Amino acid sequence: MYYLNEEPKRSPLRWIVIIALLLTGGYFALAKWSPRTLERARVWLTTDKAAKGAAPALPIEPAPQASEAKPELPRQLNAPATGITQPPPDAPATVDKSAQVAVLLYHRVEANASPALRIAPELFEEHMQKLKDANITVISMQDFLAWKRGEKSIPARSALITIDDGFSSTFDVARPILKKYGYPWTCFVYTNFISRGSALTWEQLAQLRDEGVEIGCHSHSHANLRDTQGKPPEVYEEWLKQEIAGAKQTLEQRLGIRCATYAYPFGSYSNRVLEHVKAAGFEAAFTLGSIRTSFSAPSDRIARFSWLDARPHDFNPVFSWSGRVQAADAPQANAAVAMPAAPAEAAIPILTQPLDGDVIADPQPLLRADLAALGNVDANTVSLRLSGVGMIPFSWVPDSKLTISAKVPKPLEPGDYTVTVTALAERRRVEAQWRFRVDTGSGYDNALRPSDKPR
Ligand SMILES: [Zn+2]
Repeated sequence: MYYLNEEPKRSPLRWIVIIALLLTGGYFALAKWSPRTLERARVWLTTDKAAKGAAPALPIEPAPQASEAKPELPRQLNAPATGITQPPPDAPATVDKSAQVAVLLYHRVEANASPALRIAPELFEEHMQKLKDANITVISMQDFLAWKRGEKSIPARSALITIDDGFSSTFDVARPILKKYGYPWTCFVYTNFISRGSALTWEQLAQLRDEGVEIGCHSHSHANLRDTQGKPPEVYEEWLKQEIAGAKQTLEQRLGIRCATYAYPFGSYSNRVLEHVKAAGFEAAFTLGSIRTSFSAPSDRIARFSWLDARPHDFNPVFSWSGRVQAADAPQANAAVAMPAAPAEAAIPILTQPLDGDVIADPQPLLRADLAALGNVDANTVSLRLSGVGMIPFSWVPDSKLTISAKVPKPLEPGDYTVTVTALAERRRVEAQWRFRVDTGSGYDNALRPSDKPR
């Protein structure tokens, strides 16, 4: 090999050969020690070449072995066609997939409003300070959406502040406090309330827009969207369109904005509602629920901690952020809202823990499900099943008739699991299903970060 004896500068070939040797060595090392990594690299290379618009077809991988690269689960198994924006299968390495966001919901920042909606201005300001003290970063809606798209990283503990309905106190009281803290926030308004009575005006909304506040859509009339009110199907469809796409168009035209987010009135939705929200082009939609939002959480039903004066403990998990696990011991905030019976639907998406599509490290996880979306469930008919395990005894979360909780009886082998909840609601059988993967070797999703240790 004559070139090895040459002077380096006289022999660029030498470097080419060295690089080629390194690449070949690396390839065989990968093939020997981590063939799955190699497979993933191949998938990545081929999908990268494919047309941008085409969804890359990641193979569904077999149950993972410990110590291997963390797998990707197909997302949204039970709610398809309804997922608005799913993260790309391989987000840039810079995006922290283990970060979480506590989404906060307030209504009227004034002492003398209805107890269901109010928070005293002093207490609201105290909350803002507590976020700061707990080292929780308040991020903007746009940063949140970019993170969910896999395009931008956010701090491991983040919060999103949302104020619904558009009462004038949002402008007069909340806005100066938020300004003082320099917090970005989102204002969800329903269009037939604007510039009427105790609501903020179109001019004030335009000012908020100019100050960088995200304006989101909260329907036209603030009716419960899953309640057909006896309308014939085609009338109901048209009405949904007005409450969702129509309200979006009104806001976009009056304010000259792109309205990317929707908040369901009363947090209430159905599969049909989700489909309308998707068709209208919303990038994310928000409901209620005392859980933090993870990277893999479905973007069309983001949970929000909803402030209720009577239930301050609902917010405890926000300010005492300890560990990754979602579970507020507080019941769901929408428990008080009477939901009409679910229309006959095959699979109803519900809020769960682990989230649908989650990869968890804990082999013996706590399962939780908020059954509110299933309608008027007869509590005596509820059953909980875990694939590979069978029926699991569960308990109702205290103070909540809608959330069930169960500890998996024995540690699970690594692999994929399906949880099925069935019940009778108004004598109709209703069912919800979600999936998660146990990957004890990855430490990927559920591990406590040192900074997350309870204090
Ligand atoms: Zn509202």
